Amino acid sequence: MDRKITKKIKLGNMYVGGDSRISVQSMTNTDTRDVDATVNQILNLEKAGCDIIRCAVLDIASADALKDIIKQIHIPLVADIHFDYKLALKSIESGVAALRINPGNIGNIDKIKMVAQAAKNNNIPIRIGVNSGSLEKDILEKYKKVCPEALVESALRHVRILESLNFYDIGISIKSSNVMHMIESYRMISEKVNYPLHLGVTEAGTLWRGTIKSSIGIGTLLSEGIGDTIRVSLTGDVLDEVKVGREILKALGHIEEGVKFVSCPTCGRTKINLIKIAEEVEKRLANCEKNIKVAIMGCVVNGPGEAREADIGIAGGNGEGLIFKKGKVIKKVKEENLVEELMKEIEKL
Ligand code: SF4
Repeated sequence: MDRKITKKIKLGNMYVGGDSRISVQSMTNTDTRDVDATVNQILNLEKAGCDIIRCAVLDIASADALKDIIKQIHIPLVADIHFDYKLALKSIESGVAALRINPGNIGNIDKIKMVAQAAKNNNIPIRIGVNSGSLEKDILEKYKKVCPEALVESALRHVRILESLNFYDIGISIKSSNVMHMIESYRMISEKVNYPLHLGVTEAGTLWRGTIKSSIGIGTLLSEGIGDTIRVSLTGDVLDEVKVGREILKALGHIEEGVKFVSCPTCGRTKINLIKIAEEVEKRLANCEKNIKVAIMGCVVNGPGEAREADIGIAGGNGEGLIFKKGKVIKKVKEENLVEELMKEIEKL
């Protein structure tokens, strides 16, 4: 399905929405006041392919620390703020690229005006982030439960506050830990507004479960043309959030560069330790920047056909395997040497 073209907003040196590429975000889990630890984590996330980073701003010291963090990183930083308009103002002063704050939660209209005006003066967009765990009391009472309608109403309430102040540099996320609610909420809001959407399943769980839930939620919406930037939320290593996010984009054809990895599930025809070989090859290619498709196939029945489709691949035999390159068999190699020989050939590509 064609991608819905939303309003384009600018975060530092990059754009979100419109025809800009779909970006991958993550959030640091260091203490933001610990500048060295936070910078170190962000630099590692950058290497993994993170496009935009968000930091929790819990107090004035955190907002102040952002200034030193921003000087040492290369991607836009979003300040994540709840309730306190002073933290928003201080973060803007520190040079953040965007704010994540819900205007309806920061107090009276004068405070909201101050934040919106400061953001406008500095060309900083505001992301409204509605979360199924923190819906407004009156909305919960109205709908009696958390549901997509309630989540969308909450998001629109915040949107309308900013619009009433002539502030339109808006991004929106509506995250739910319920995948179907999340999907439905984004579909609904996408019909109602044209602001860029930040997709995510919140509190998705650990690496294994969170990857599945995020892939279904984010993947379904992206395949319908909805979504401009994504964050996979995992209880685990933040680097995995970026790896999973990038794989989702690769699977849907939004990222073309980098290694595309294909491997068969193995079956009774497999006569080599393909699982070990595939894991080893995948590990060795983790930081490979070549734009190639690698196929690791277990047998001589379907294997060669699949391997031929790839730039390079293996089709296993009995204790040995064929290495294919650009559709041609180039070597027959003993099982124990397959990984090494394959890597040598990949080097040459
Ligand atoms: Fe089985 Fe061959 Fe298919 Fe692998 S490629 S699952 S070994 S038939």
